[in-house]
Amino acid sequence: MKFYQHQSLKKYNTFGLDVYAMYFVEYGSEDELLEILSSEVVSKNPLLAVGQGSNLLFLKDFDGVVVHSALKGITRIEETEDSVVLEVGSGVVWDDLVEHCVQHGWHGIENLSLIPGEVGASAIQNIGAYGVELKDVLQKVKAVRIADGETKIFTCEDCRYGYRESIFKKELKGQYIILSIIIKLSKKQVFNLTYHHLEKEVLQRGEINLRNVRDTIIAIRESKLPNPKDIGNAGSFFMNPVVNRKKFEDLRSAYPQIPHYFISDTQEKIPAAWLIEQCGWKGKRVGNVGVYAHQALVLVNYGGASGQEIADLAYQIQADVDAKFGIKLIPEVNFIG
Ligand SMILES: Cc1cc2nc3c(=O)[nH]c(=O)nc-3n(C[C@H](O)[C@H](O)[C@H](O)COP(=O)(O)OP(=O)(O)OC[C@H]3O[C@@H](n4cnc5c(N)ncnc54)[C@H](O)[C@@H]3O)c2cc1C
Repeated sequence: MKFYQHQSLKKYNTFGLDVYAMYFVEYGSEDELLEILSSEVVSKNPLLAVGQGSNLLFLKDFDGVVVHSALKGITRIEETEDSVVLEVGSGVVWDDLVEHCVQHGWHGIENLSLIPGEVGASAIQNIGAYGVELKDVLQKVKAVRIADGETKIFTCEDCRYGYRESIFKKELKGQYIILSIIIKLSKKQVFNLTYHHLEKEVLQRGEINLRNVRDTIIAIRESKLPNPKDIGNAGSFFMNPVVNRKKFEDLRSAYPQIPHYFISDTQEKIPAAWLIEQCGWKGKRVGNVGVYAHQALVLVNYGGASGQEIADLAYQIQADVDAKFGIKLIPEVNFIG
């Protein structure tokens, strides 16, 4: 365990921003994490846990300690004829976990294929895609409280998961470092293909099985989203807004073609990408930054941008959407600094 000074964070943020951390340190065990937390460096500086930085926007250098997990284990802790329970270290790359589970014939997270990032952040974000969220399989989260090094096990209920929401993004924001998650997967052939035309697309490629579902989702994602290795981005920049029924009906009478998803009798979800596109932002470039031409929800760094330039673009988009539709878009990406 070593504290590195003035460490580049370029490979720890998928926007590819050229920012630095005053200190950078990795933990490979719970004891190492406790040692880090009780160090003088940590007592004197702000602390930030990062995974792959695929949901982070650094506005400037981080004047504090960046902590990264090197906990890599995937351990079977319970198994029956029908299911398996795994404990997965926070430093495991999320998509490696999905591939591991598909190879073993374990169902439940195949729809979450190719989501960038690591397991630790998945529990903070409640990652989701194609009708599945982490909370659907998650049983527990093991974490350490930064203030006093106390280990706590959170049940799924404790985590208060919602759409890209959790207690770790609200009341407990910045207070815990994740060690591992515990998930329960099924050995039975259960698939969730109800999202849009997913079943049709899977069938077009072959029969319904874990490998084909995973491959189909990877193919769809690769056709729609820019690969951060080619062009800096953090996936969906904004959350899809949920509006009340009265607001939705007002919008629908003004824009009869408005796309929407039923949430409940009182609420409707509207794709943020559509709102942004209607404001003329899709494919627009402003200096080094812009809105991806194939997906208006993705803001991109064409190279050499600063975090502030990306934030300024986001603020302009927010202002335009608010002015046209009376909806305040909320960023999904975490602003740091
Ligand atoms: C091309 C692209 C596509 C994407 N598609 C999706 C998608 O379909 N669905 C989806 O949900 N998300 C998506 N995302 C967003 C992103 O992949 C997820 O939010 C992911 O969980 C972030 O993981 P990370 O390891 O990069 O976390 P980071 O971005 O590094 O961190 C995210 C948050 O978690 C905290 N954190 C990270 N590790 C720990 C830890 N060990 N302990 C405590 N806190 C921690 C950070 O402080 C921060 O608040 C996409 C991103 C990209 C670039």
